[in-house]
Amino acid sequence: MNFRIKILDLVRKTNQNNLYNSFIENQFKKTEDSIIAYQNNAKEKILQHHIKHNKNYREWLISKGIDLTKKIEFDEIPIINKKDLLVIHPFIEKFIHQIYHTGGTTGTPFKYSLSRESVSSLWPNLWRAFNTCGIKPCTPIIMIAGPSLYNNRSIPRKIFDWINRFTVISAFDLNTDKLQNTYDIIKQKNIKGIYGYTSAILIFLRHLEKNNLYLDLRGIFSTSETFIPKIRTLAKTYCNCDVFDIYGANDGGICAFECQEHNGYHISYERTYVEIIAHKIILTDLTNLSFPFIRYEVGDVSNSNEIIYEKCKCGSSLPKISSISGRVNSYITDSNGNRIHTEFFSHLFNKDETIIQFQVSEKFNIINVNIISDKEDIKYYQTKYNDAFNKRFIKKIGISVNSRIYKNGNEKTPIFIKLD
Ligand SMILES: [Zn+2]
Repeated sequence: MNFRIKILDLVRKTNQNNLYNSFIENQFKKTEDSIIAYQNNAKEKILQHHIKHNKNYREWLISKGIDLTKKIEFDEIPIINKKDLLVIHPFIEKFIHQIYHTGGTTGTPFKYSLSRESVSSLWPNLWRAFNTCGIKPCTPIIMIAGPSLYNNRSIPRKIFDWINRFTVISAFDLNTDKLQNTYDIIKQKNIKGIYGYTSAILIFLRHLEKNNLYLDLRGIFSTSETFIPKIRTLAKTYCNCDVFDIYGANDGGICAFECQEHNGYHISYERTYVEIIAHKIILTDLTNLSFPFIRYEVGDVSNSNEIIYEKCKCGSSLPKISSISGRVNSYITDSNGNRIHTEFFSHLFNKDETIIQFQVSEKFNIINVNIISDKEDIKYYQTKYNDAFNKRFIKKIGISVNSRIYKNGNEKTPIFIKLD
């Protein structure tokens, strides 16, 4: 038993210790059939719970033409999005354990709540992801991130981080002093892992590279942004470890993580039922009694169209999403109205060892691809990629090398940003 988790459970009024133990056991012991049976039962239960207790949700279903006097199949339930939820305001007061706010500077502000059951499984799910490389709960970890991973810097959260041995570094303004300080903290506190925004991890690893600094970590966990393959090679050289990408969305309740096989994201099936419909990721939070994230369109896309239920080579039975392509708004609109996902560029660039990072921007209808590279040679990239761009786009695609990388209000670095 981990006494730190026990204390955290007292602080948070949760049940994380037991959940973590069962999550660790589930991933290797459960069979495909038992996972499917559990989810069928749980999604029916959460739907019936909200139909029964959630007046606003019930009225919304009726307004969508659902006849509640008859037996309804789960996949007949209309897909719901943030806009719908903002309008219908479907809170069940007595089940609210914690309220969350998102959006703000980057989009429409959105308020939602989690019940105790969903709050309880937040950390156990993340700890299970960390366990992929043997990191146990409350092992010292450093987090380099912005507000989407720590929107709440309240005293209870600070106490929680302290007991959990989580050191938080803001992704805002990662200058040389701050990067060096991060390196020093990792050494002093004997930190075993890094968790943070993908682009912030890249900046930190490049600092190690530039200054010839080496660390010995168990794992690095990137999240919240499109994966940057370069961090995996840098991590091997400078931190002696692998990088595991994590896909998380608290609204919808998903925590999905890569294992050492790197062929998909293992889903926290105990809390989340995932569907992919027309490449859109649709989530159902199976344990949130206070707010109906039921067939919720979270705004992310996958280039595959199915969930993998077969056992993974790593031995885990957790179902998998084979890929996460990023946000729905990562589409570039061509002159003829064609919408092309920024994954087009990822496919093109991911095999190019000279490209460390890239960002596509649009300003006054002009598209530019900014490539971050040690090779300060714009002609090289124009010769190499202009043909491919011209085949796919009618619009002219400009290239720049080592220009500014833009962040949005959450300190996240989007793969595609509109600057006008
Ligand atoms: Zn696996």
